[in-house]
Amino acid sequence: NDALLKVNHLKKHFHMGKGQTLKAVDGVSFEIKKGETFGIVGESGCGKSTAGRTIIGLYDKTDGEVIYDGKNVHKMNEKERFVFHRKMQMIFQDPYASLNPRSTVQEIISEPMEVQGLYPNKKERRERVYQLLEDVGLNRDHANRYPHEFSGGQRQRIGIARALSLDPDFIIADEPISALDVSVQAQVVNLLKGLQKKKGLTYLFIAHDLSMVKHISDRIGVMYLGHLVELTTSDDLYSKPLHPYTQALLSAIPIPDPDVEDMRERIILKGELPSPMNPPSGCVFRTRCPHAMDACATIKPEWQEIEKNHFVACHLYNQEVIGRKDDKLAAA
Ligand code: SF4
Ligand code: MG
Repeated sequence: NDALLKVNHLKKHFHMGKGQTLKAVDGVSFEIKKGETFGIVGESGCGKSTAGRTIIGLYDKTDGEVIYDGKNVHKMNEKERFVFHRKMQMIFQDPYASLNPRSTVQEIISEPMEVQGLYPNKKERRERVYQLLEDVGLNRDHANRYPHEFSGGQRQRIGIARALSLDPDFIIADEPISALDVSVQAQVVNLLKGLQKKKGLTYLFIAHDLSMVKHISDRIGVMYLGHLVELTTSDDLYSKPLHPYTQALLSAIPIPDPDVEDMRERIILKGELPSPMNPPSGCVFRTRCPHAMDACATIKPEWQEIEKNHFVACHLYNQEVIGRKDDKLAAA
């Protein structure tokens, strides 16, 4: 098995006081192979960012485990953690908020190297920053400027250069393009793809809709209320989505070619995303699902591999549940 990252039954719960628990991530499992891009998609509040932060060790886990390159991320000693910080880096949604406004680009990109004691020679470090700026499509003239002098897309490039400064193997990109103009989004996605090829990177790419993530991901997991509900290759997810939630997300993406008439029926989800402090019984999606059956309120759908590499958690694909009579369920 050549997985670089293994996430096994990961849970991250937050205790909110008064006995309330927010189950942000509630039992998520997947693996990412070396060189692969794995996308996680879901509405805000589904737990995807929390999953990313728990995987990189910014949060301790509540249960389950995260294994990176054979090592348990939440059981590393200080020395292992220090090395791990170099290997796995994160890019954030809002590049402006994550860049110190009073630091020059040179200082911003140098900082992680200083913390890690890499390139201790000042001149070499400066050269390294120039190289990183070129890698992300900027140049050395940008090194002495400040974040406010750049556009959103350029700031995200600076954030990417900083993430690359430690020569990582794995990058978690948490909605890296959501805050950018549509015209700039594709440029940043193409930059990330190019860097992946050039540097042999592995990505976890977090997104709130399915429009751009297809172009970068090899496989995609769809998250809803702390759970993965479907996971398969990008192609299969788009061509034969199985979970009603995935079907709804896909129906919301506009067809890019204005000459093609959009014949698809837009699936409008009823209701609001329920609170993760008080998730529905049975299937967490049932309060908004157009296909909900009686069984959905009482039985939690199993995570099943319906076809090779195509996983889904939904009773519509479980003959045993569909075959049951409601009165039997009521009696159970
Ligand atoms: Fe809908 Fe039931 Fe499937 Fe959940 S298990 S997605 S409620 S049909
Ligand atoms: Mg988020």
